[in-house]
Amino acid sequence: MQSTIGYAAHNPSAPLAPFHFTRRSLLTTDIQIEILYCGVCHSDIHQVYNEWGDSKFPMVPGHEIVGRVSKVGEDVHNFKAGDYVGVGCLVDSCMTCPDCQDKLEQFCNNAVFTYNSHDKHSNTITYGGYSKQIVVNQNFVLHISNKLNLAAAAPLLCAGITTYSPLKHWKVGKGDKVGIVGLGGLGHMAIQFAHALGAHTVLFTTSPNKAEDAKRLGADDVVISTNPQEMSKQASSFDFILDTVSATHNLDSYTALLKRDGTLCLLGLPNFPHPSPAIGNLIFRRRRIVGLLIGGLKETQEMLDFCAANAITSEVEVIPIQQINNAFERMLKKEVKYRFVIDLQSLKT
Ligand code: NAP
Ligand code: ZN
Repeated sequence: MQSTIGYAAHNPSAPLAPFHFTRRSLLTTDIQIEILYCGVCHSDIHQVYNEWGDSKFPMVPGHEIVGRVSKVGEDVHNFKAGDYVGVGCLVDSCMTCPDCQDKLEQFCNNAVFTYNSHDKHSNTITYGGYSKQIVVNQNFVLHISNKLNLAAAAPLLCAGITTYSPLKHWKVGKGDKVGIVGLGGLGHMAIQFAHALGAHTVLFTTSPNKAEDAKRLGADDVVISTNPQEMSKQASSFDFILDTVSATHNLDSYTALLKRDGTLCLLGLPNFPHPSPAIGNLIFRRRRIVGLLIGGLKETQEMLDFCAANAITSEVEVIPIQQINNAFERMLKKEVKYRFVIDLQSLKT
């Protein structure tokens, strides 16, 4: 066991505060990582506030981790001390079930999430990236290209893969009209990927002041979703809409915008369910609503390499860890542009 420090929530209403804990001793297939940066995902807020009802405390959040390898176990050959690496939402899975065999480890019944999960090796809760170091099985560690800025690469490990994966899975590309709903951490990555894949990309936002940024990121058009006239002009015109909104909202306004056979993909996971969608909107045009959870490790590496090759990156506001509680408040006010990333140098042991 090795001692380290992080920031933890001790219950859903207490602010995050310094917390001393231990990481497991290195197994032969493990990599020990000195954490340099960790992105702040809206899922961290949902879980700290126990909005999904399964939170375990104390909770050290953080699943957008970039760091430097400090030590490797004797059976690790793909990584060495000094390498820059990433860790996303997963740190283990069974590796034998059909989902793992298909490189979709996120759907494994025994997937172990980076925090708020159970580590079978140490029989403890997993603790995430709002901390100085982490120990992870080599199969769940990713290479970070030296073409990527380290702080800006951190959000790719969740916001990046979660938006890249559906666009690839549903084969979005040239000739498609694609909508992105919400310009936050996921949304700003989604615009860049949809644009890079050649789609005509439209942002739906509740924040008119984000329109200029959306165009700079690659949106061809911006629609203010609270304006019914603007929305109705878009009726039945989209092949695919990726909804990244973190709060409960009416889905009918978006299903009505899909063409025949169009797809609305939900990524946000709010604490209360959305109102039941109008079935007529679906059956009269064979439209569908789907959802998706992050992406597997192979695809995450592919996405990181795609970002390095296409100069795609996250726009970040780097903060010291002491500002984390304020960062949560600002995210809830839709003020983040477009991802907070914690600089772990600010956390002294
Ligand atoms: P974020 O940075 O806070 O962005 C969410 C955006 O949603 C906001 O910037 C805002 O965009 C819009 N929004 C917020 N409240 C709204 C409301 N009441 N009505 C309409 N729009 C609203 O959050 P994020 O980190 O991108 O995460 C978004 C969601 O995805 C969260 O629920 C998170 O848990 C989930 N998530 C899912 C996965 C997955 O695997 N499926 C992975 C990661 C995260 P505008 O200002 O442009 O309107
Ligand atoms: Zn996340």
